[in-house]
Amino acid sequence: MDAVDIAIIGAGITGVGIAQRAQAAGYRVLLLEQGGIGEQTSANSSKLIHGGLRYLENGQLSLVRQSLAQRKALLTLAPKLVKPVPFYIPIYQGSQRGPLAIRAGLSLYAMLSEFDTLGHFNAVDAKEWPSLGLKLNGLRAVFRYWDAQTDDHQLTVAVAKSAQALGAQIKTQVQVEQISHDHSGCVLSFRQSDKTISAEPQQIFAKCVINSTGPWVNQTLDLVSPAIEKVDIELVQGSHLLLNIPPPAGILYLESIFDKRVVFVIPWQGKTLIGTTETAIDSPDKAGITQAEIHYLLGIYAHYFPQHGDENHLRDNIVRHYCGIRVLPKQQGDAFDLPRETLMRSSKSHPHILTIYGGKLTTFRHTAKEALQWASDRLGVRPIKADVDKLSLD
Ligand SMILES: Cc1cc2nc3c(=O)[nH]c(=O)nc-3n(C[C@H](O)[C@H](O)[C@H](O)COP(=O)(O)OP(=O)(O)OC[C@H]3O[C@@H](n4cnc5c(N)ncnc54)[C@H](O)[C@@H]3O)c2cc1C
Repeated sequence: MDAVDIAIIGAGITGVGIAQRAQAAGYRVLLLEQGGIGEQTSANSSKLIHGGLRYLENGQLSLVRQSLAQRKALLTLAPKLVKPVPFYIPIYQGSQRGPLAIRAGLSLYAMLSEFDTLGHFNAVDAKEWPSLGLKLNGLRAVFRYWDAQTDDHQLTVAVAKSAQALGAQIKTQVQVEQISHDHSGCVLSFRQSDKTISAEPQQIFAKCVINSTGPWVNQTLDLVSPAIEKVDIELVQGSHLLLNIPPPAGILYLESIFDKRVVFVIPWQGKTLIGTTETAIDSPDKAGITQAEIHYLLGIYAHYFPQHGDENHLRDNIVRHYCGIRVLPKQQGDAFDLPRETLMRSSKSHPHILTIYGGKLTTFRHTAKEALQWASDRLGVRPIKADVDKLSLD
């Protein structure tokens, strides 16, 4: 049976980021993916490389600081894929967050970025407001700050290519079906995902296994024998609509008229993207946009951009819609307020398996660094092949 140091299951941004870093650190890496590279959550996000201004409201300062540091690194390492973009926050009479609160939040945000090149903001002159296309009635102020935007799928593919160039082996269209754990490591059985191809299952021995299967994370743990403990999670679907409407001048940070959540209106490929929703689902295999989500997103858009017509008219302008699934720890409270930090779990009973729950596209390099630390503690340090902090991505 073939053997590797680290087998990674799932080639979303988390898995490819770990593969790149682990291979660069001198380990023999195999990455197994049941579909294509980065085709699931990592192709269905809001495509922002950002600190997450709104996380300041529930005190997630360390997540924001870490994300802003990663934003800075990605702007340097992947300038063709990660680009600065202005964000506009309009404040209306009756908005939940007034000019003082926004000014305070943006000051803290700039401070947490250590005043890097994007760490500044300003109040937009009223003469510029009409160019944003927003309804002007009741508008009191507009703030502009900066974050970055990417093509999430292309970024994931670029990291996978970098991992492969370093020597990582990536197998796509293969599904892991069984993980047998013992005192020395794990034997993974996997097979062609296309069940019409009658191929025998293949096996590989791995000293360490990293489960980065996104929303399928607990389904993957069900494949482990002997059985392993799982963290209770919530799966929350986020949907986006792409409208055949010319793109806005930047990203509009809007307060939902239904529940005060933040919803973004985003320029995307010459059109207008709106997202996102938060709908609890039972299984990643049940994801799919609902009529209630379409009503929610179009209702908000029609409210702020009345010149583009009412909800019914906007429905005819939907070019595409997509859903991604967030993995959030099960806790009391609204999904919107639950922490977005990545959770990593390895247990005494199964010391060769690391499981990754949740996270953000923006922080994939940080997640990879922590996962590699876990692997190095088990495998020892190897002669390094490359410094990923200097490898450009394109
Ligand atoms: C709606 C939404 C918007 C978001 N917006 C942003 C944003 O703007 N900025 C940001 O930083 N973050 C954002 N995020 C978070 C970010 O998108 C995710 O954290 C990230 O994409 C998760 O990547 P992943 O690799 O963990 O999971 P995934 O990309 O889902 O990858 C998991 C992979 O595992 C594979 N897999 C599963 N089971 C098996 C098996 N048995 N065998 C083989 N392969 C398997 C799947 O096919 C899949 O490709 C958003 C998330 C959502 C849901």
